[in-house]
Formats: sequence, C-alpha cells, structure tokens
Amino acid sequence: MVETGYECYPVQYLKMVGPRRFALLKKLGIKTVKDLLYHFPREYRERTVKPSSACAHGEQATLQGRVLGVSELNPRPGLWVTRVQIQEPGGYFIAVWFNQRYIKKMLASGSRIQVTGKIERRFGEVQLLVTDYELLDGETRAPQSGLIPVYPLTEQLSQRLMRSLVSLALDEWLPHIHDFLPPEIRQKFSLPDLASALRQIHFPAVEKEAIRARKRFIFEELFLLQLLLALRRRQNTRRMKPHRYHDRRNLVESFLSSLPFTLTDAQQQAWEEIKADMDAPWPMNRLLQGDVGAGKTVVSTLALLRAVGSGLQGALMVPTEILAEQHYLTLSRDLAPLGIEVGLLSGSMKKKEREKILSGLASGEIPLVVGTQALIQEKVQFKALALVVIDEQHRFGVRQRAKLQYKGHCPDVLVMTATPIPRTLALTLYGDLEVSTISQLPPGRQPVQTYVLPSSYLPRVYGLVQREVEKGGQAYVVCPLVEESEKIDVRAAVELVEELSRGPLAGCRIGLLHGRLKPGEKEEVMEAFRTGQIQVLVTTTVVEVGVDVPTATVMVILDADRFGLAQLHQLRGRVGRGKARSYCILISDSNTEEARFRLQAMTSTTDGFALAEKDLQLRGPGEFAGTRQSGLPEFKVADLIRDWRALQLAREEAVALIKKDPELKAPEHRLLAREMRIRFGEKAGYLDIG
Ligand code: ADP
Ligand code: MG
Repeated sequence: MVETGYECYPVQYLKMVGPRRFALLKKLGIKTVKDLLYHFPREYRERTVKPSSACAHGEQATLQGRVLGVSELNPRPGLWVTRVQIQEPGGYFIAVWFNQRYIKKMLASGSRIQVTGKIERRFGEVQLLVTDYELLDGETRAPQSGLIPVYPLTEQLSQRLMRSLVSLALDEWLPHIHDFLPPEIRQKFSLPDLASALRQIHFPAVEKEAIRARKRFIFEELFLLQLLLALRRRQNTRRMKPHRYHDRRNLVESFLSSLPFTLTDAQQQAWEEIKADMDAPWPMNRLLQGDVGAGKTVVSTLALLRAVGSGLQGALMVPTEILAEQHYLTLSRDLAPLGIEVGLLSGSMKKKEREKILSGLASGEIPLVVGTQALIQEKVQFKALALVVIDEQHRFGVRQRAKLQYKGHCPDVLVMTATPIPRTLALTLYGDLEVSTISQLPPGRQPVQTYVLPSSYLPRVYGLVQREVEKGGQAYVVCPLVEESEKIDVRAAVELVEELSRGPLAGCRIGLLHGRLKPGEKEEVMEAFRTGQIQVLVTTTVVEVGVDVPTATVMVILDADRFGLAQLHQLRGRVGRGKARSYCILISDSNTEEARFRLQAMTSTTDGFALAEKDLQLRGPGEFAGTRQSGLPEFKVADLIRDWRALQLAREEAVALIKKDPELKAPEHRLLAREMRIRFGEKAGYLDIG
C-alpha cells in the first residue's frame, strides 16, 4: 500500500465505497484516493455546537444530544411531522422533520446525533427545524463542528458521505503521504506541508488554515506546470542544430543601411537576443511580441537575411493568403536590390507555379519563402531550412508550430504575435519559449484618435473620410459581421460599396476586399490601395492582421460592438502607421454593458497590453484570443487573473530549481520528479528526469 502510493490506490478499495458509489465518484473524476483528497471543498459552513438554552428564537444553530424518543404526528392529510426528543446536558430539546418518515427508523433511542437548523421557541420548549443532521456513532469520523466542508457534488452523493469518505481517507493515508515540494520553497513562502495542507483544506480548525492550505495548492499547481515548461525549454537546448550562421554576404548590414529609418532601441535589443539565440548550438525557440505597428517585421527580416547570407534557407509562415501576398510583395521589393529571390507558396496557387516553388525549395535555389499553412504540408522539402518565422502566432496551434519544426533539421524558430498577451497568459501559453518584447513604437507615431459614435453620426464620419481623402490620405471601412456565413458578409459588403459611392462618398475611388475574392484579385485590390488608386477600401475583417499601408489615416468600423477587443485593436492598428494623424471611428448603437465596456476600453488606451488585460478580465483565460485550442492547461485551484503574483513566483522558483538540478536527479528532488511524471504522464515521459 505504501509502496504504490495514494495516487494508485483505487477509491473503491476504501470502506464505504461499493460499485454504485464508485460509479458516482467516477463522474466527479475521482478514481483514486489522491483524486478524492484533491477534490477540494467549494466552501465551508460554520457550525458551532451550543446548548439549546443558549439559542434565541429564529437563530440558525447546531445542537447535539442523545435520542430519548420519537413521535409522529399527522396534523392534516399530506403532512407528517416527526418529533424527536433529544437529551442534552441539563435538559432536552425537540428536533422536527417534515415528511421524512424514514427518520424514525434511523434513530434508535440512545443514539447520539447532531442536528442543524432553525430554532423556534414555543410554549417554553426549544424546537429545531432540521435542515441537516449527522449520526455521531458508527462509521462517521468527520469532525462535526467548526468549519464543515461543502463539496462540489453530483446528485445522489451526499455531503455527509463525502465528508466521511474524505475523513476516512485522510486517516488512512496521511501518514504515508510525503511532500514533494522542496522544504526550502515551502519555508520561503510559508506553505504548509502536503499532509497538513490536505487535512486543513478539508477540515480546517479555523478559516486561516483553509486559506493557507489553498495557497499551497495554488502554488503547487502553478509550480509544477512552470517546472514542466522550464524542463521543456531546457530540453530544447540539448538538441544540437546542424547549421551555423556566417553572414558572409553581409546581407543584414546592407539591408539595415538601405532602410529609411534606424531601429528603435527596443528593436535593436530584440535583434540582439535573436542573434544570440541563432549563434547558440541548439535551436532557437523565441517569441517576439510587440504591439501592432511596433516593427516586428523588420526584425524578423534581419533574422531571415542572416540565414540567407549564410547560404541557408528561411521560411516565413503567416495565417492568411492576403498576409502572405503582402509579405511576399514587400520582401521581394525590399530584397531585390540585394539580389535575393523570394518564393510564395499558398494553398490556392496553380499547380505549375507550385511545382516550381517546391523544386526551388528542394534544390535550395529559393533561399527564402513566404507562405500560409501550405508550408507545413508533407510535400514541401527544403534543402537547408535553418530558420522559421511564424507571424501572428496566436492563429496557429502549438501542434502546427511543432510540425514545421521537424521539417528541417532542428531549425531555429521565431514566433511573432501582434496580439499582445497579458504576461501571465504568455507565461503559461508560451511558457516553453523565450520571450523578447518590443515595448516601444517607432518615433513620430501619434496615437490614433479613437471615437465611439452612434450610427446617426455616420454622415459626419463620411465627411471626415472625404476630407482625409482630399488631403491624400486613405480610409478603411470595415463592414459589420453579419453572420458566421462569409457569403452574406460579402453581399453586405457589395451593397455597402454601392450605397457609399451613390451617396456619402461619391467621388471617392472605392475598392472592395473580402475573403471570397480570388488570390490574384485580392492582390490587385491591395496593390491598388497601397498605391493610392483606391482611396477607400471597404472590407470584411480580412484586413485584420498585419496589413501595412502607412498612408491610410481613417479606420471606420461599423457595428463595432460585434467585434472582440483583440480584433478591434488589430483593426485599429491598420492606421496610425505613418506620420500623419489618424482616426479610428467605432460605430455602435448597442447599449449593453459589455459592449460599452469594450468600446470604452478602446477609447481609453491605445496600448495593446493594457487592452489585453481588460480582455482577459472580460472573457477569462479560456476564451482569450482563441487560446482554447492552443492548449492552455486547465487549472483546478489556480486562477491566472487572481493568482498572477503566485504564478510569477512559481516560475522563478521553477527556473532556479532547474538551473541547479536540470534533470531532477538529486535525491531531494526524487519525489518531485515522481510527482511530475504522475501529473503530466506522457508529457513528462519524454522529459529526461529523475
Ligand atoms: P508590426 O510589429 O505590426 O508587424 P511592422 O513591422 O509592420 O509592424 O511595422 C509597422 C511600420 O513601421 C512599417 O511601415 C515599418 O516600415 C515601420 N517601421 C518599423 N520600424 C521602424 C523604425 N524603427 N522607425 C520608423 N518606422 C519603422
Ligand atoms: Mg506584422
């Protein structure tokens, strides 16, 4: 029993658990004694046992005593009253049940009982209308007074049974449970040891004990996860990559001097970090984050050029075809003077074009390729893939990231996201990545002026668009999301273009962009907008990410309340990319509180990180920016918003511990290694620990 441990001991081996109860427990996810003990109360009820003489009329109270006798009354049809006379030191009181005639059979005279309910003083007699009772003889061992745990349960399992089970399990198993948290860490944060914490979270003597115990379990949960992530990061450094960089052609320098600007300090710093990773013998795994327009693309281009200059290959993977085409166009244009050929690979290419690119990648003739998910298909072979840059990482799942990684021989991976992620989420979601942050926008940017206006203001808004266009600026008008259906969205967009060119924006050159256009057509529209042939671009949300036309100065979003915060921020990020003052007009007639909160958040700040925090508050970690499918772990006790401080501490401790004992091989970490394997199972299986 001691050998196998409570995590393997099936709960049905406990006394009191037969097949029926086991089935019910399984519904709660409880299969082993450990599961049972880690099934924490959701709250506690205060129960202080008093003598009945100390109770006032109307009070909720808990009384104890010995059963003297039971009588039944049937004052009117359908009502049965069971009156139990109970003796206590110095007197007696009456416990009353309504319509629960089975009680009579359960209460032999002389048995000890505890009852909880409302006190009624009548005719010199104390009555208690029972809501909860407990027999004090027999198999019950759970404490009957003080703070009583209340568990999350399914039907048919009673609180009473659960308490007894937990109590039994605690008595049998606590002596055999050894703490896996290293004592120094426990002391540092004054956390109770595992056995005490388990007892105290179920049956605290005082509230403080329950709080302290819970604190331990929160820390434990966060710490073990951070340990897993730290081990993964560390594991990564143990694979050797076959390639080394020597930018013999000095491409990076040439490119930098061709730019019309110099890097900001924040960009420079990020570039240094990336360079250092590229120089390491193991593959880079880095997240480059920065607000919309912070200039991540330039930095990633430097990294790609360094690969190309070293005679290796680089790939840039983006979530949409429009983005792929945009990056392809700008890269081809910017890199042509350096004599670098860029390839484009997307799902909708003609077969012949595609074959050409594929063979160019396989032969190494094409050193640099931009593409959508098409890049991670089986058929794509590279000659010497050294670096993969993934833009707008939040759109890709962790699995896709892994898939691309195995294309080459341990390529360096740089992921970028323009959806700023609250630090706490980044630490868990991207916890296996190193992080560089570009926290500063290029100089000269003015914050985008943001307004929330009802649709009755639209004529004036289009007036603004007209004026901006006359000054040489350009505008986006984002159509409302009508339905999930793209077809309906497209029709609405087409109608909007007609309406605008007939009336409010007559005389402007209006273009239309939506997801149903053929790739060639999209490209044409974007190019026309970029060069100013199109002055107003009516669009569905396909422009959301990454599109870069610095001369655009107005973003009008219709029915803005239908969009999430992250999306609104992304859309707004399409303007304010040049030196001119820019505007973002959010049109909304919605009065719901949530919509107002979101739109107000947009006007209160242009800082993507601040907005991300608000979004997290609003939606919770699960829904945040589509993180659900990207593998955010489910927490049992921890809450990423409430416990962000604990998360940071847990991470620091995990990092420090792995630094000291990278494989958890030290004898004092043996239990920790074991716990990791048990908790993370397969995931920890390929970690070389313990
Ligand atoms: P994002 O971080 O959103 O990907 P981009 O890389 O697209 O941002 O950059 C936004 C715009 O800022 C681009 O037009 C780019 O040329 C410009 N830019 C980037 N870095 C600088 C800089 N250091 N100084 C001035 N402009 C810059
Ligand atoms: Mg970008």
